[in-house]
Amino acid sequence: MKASVLTSYNKLEWLEVPKPVCKPGEVLLQVGYGSICGSDQHIFKGEFHPRTKTPMIMGHEFSGTVVEVGKGVEGWALGDKAAPDPIIWCGACPACKKGHYTACTSLKLIGIDSDGGFAEYISLPASMLYKVPGHIPDEHVALIEVLAIGCHAKNRAGVKEGDTVVIWGTGKVGMCVLDAVRTVTSNTVYVVDVLAPRLDIARNNHENVVAIDATKEDPVERLKRETGGRGVDVAFEAVGHAMEVEGLVNPVRGCVQVVCGGGTVCVLGLGNEPAPVVFKELIWKEARIVSSRVSHGEFAEVIDHLTHGRLHPDVLITQKMHGSQAQQAFELLEAHPEENIKVMLEFRSLGVEKMRS
Ligand SMILES: [Zn+2]
Ligand SMILES: [Zn+2]
Repeated sequence: MKASVLTSYNKLEWLEVPKPVCKPGEVLLQVGYGSICGSDQHIFKGEFHPRTKTPMIMGHEFSGTVVEVGKGVEGWALGDKAAPDPIIWCGACPACKKGHYTACTSLKLIGIDSDGGFAEYISLPASMLYKVPGHIPDEHVALIEVLAIGCHAKNRAGVKEGDTVVIWGTGKVGMCVLDAVRTVTSNTVYVVDVLAPRLDIARNNHENVVAIDATKEDPVERLKRETGGRGVDVAFEAVGHAMEVEGLVNPVRGCVQVVCGGGTVCVLGLGNEPAPVVFKELIWKEARIVSSRVSHGEFAEVIDHLTHGRLHPDVLITQKMHGSQAQQAFELLEAHPEENIKVMLEFRSLGVEKMRS
């Protein structure tokens, strides 16, 4: 089979590799689409080294169609559509024993810690797969993992009907939080970013969204004005780096300053730099800060939302390419982050009629 192999950092090649063998307990999937994650961009540049090493096959967001069912597997048939949950937890550490798998001390993901789905085929334990109704397009199935991250953040923050929300950062994750939040509350959602084209994508594709460009105005002042001084119920920080705009507070402190009394700040941007917060600002409001990492069973919720048309994955898709063009896809995401959310890679063989189930 062919796969997009990261042969060295910054270099993806479309190579012939051995087709995986479907072992007992596993299901062999033909990959439909893969979706490029921000983590993949870091891996590509070698920023996850030494957790990753080359050569490797990336891809933890992808769709599959069952082409072989391994010994002992029940409930799966040829042609079934599957969404793989890429998380592998140990089951033995203190977090796992509390049922808090997302905080597993040795949490691993396929496509990061082992070969992933940016290939024509992958064989995975049946226990990692969620069945998806056949009418959901493969490119949407490939986005279930990242949409589940949005739903997990929404659930961690406890967003309720009627809540007003701000989302700081409208990249891949922020956009998924926006879509997830919309399944719960129809009240105003404010989005903050420094990239105008992304703000346009958020505003033009969702009802009742107010976009705030942090390069043009102070988001904290604007949000206080917009809410008549009350503040928002829930503030999400999905920026993930401390690339601060001069004269403005960092996104986490901004969230603390705009949340209302008793409100919730949910942080899910994975930054390495400190983000100073004045705790008095938090304590006076008796607000809480929660964090959110990956997802925990929200695949089922996302599949239900997709089945009933409550999520809008097409909004995330800004580009589709074939898997053999992965190098160009990664270069495009680096060069033009402002107008690209998700670049989808198709992994069906070139020149062969597309298989639809
Ligand atoms: Zn991801
Ligand atoms: Zn564990």
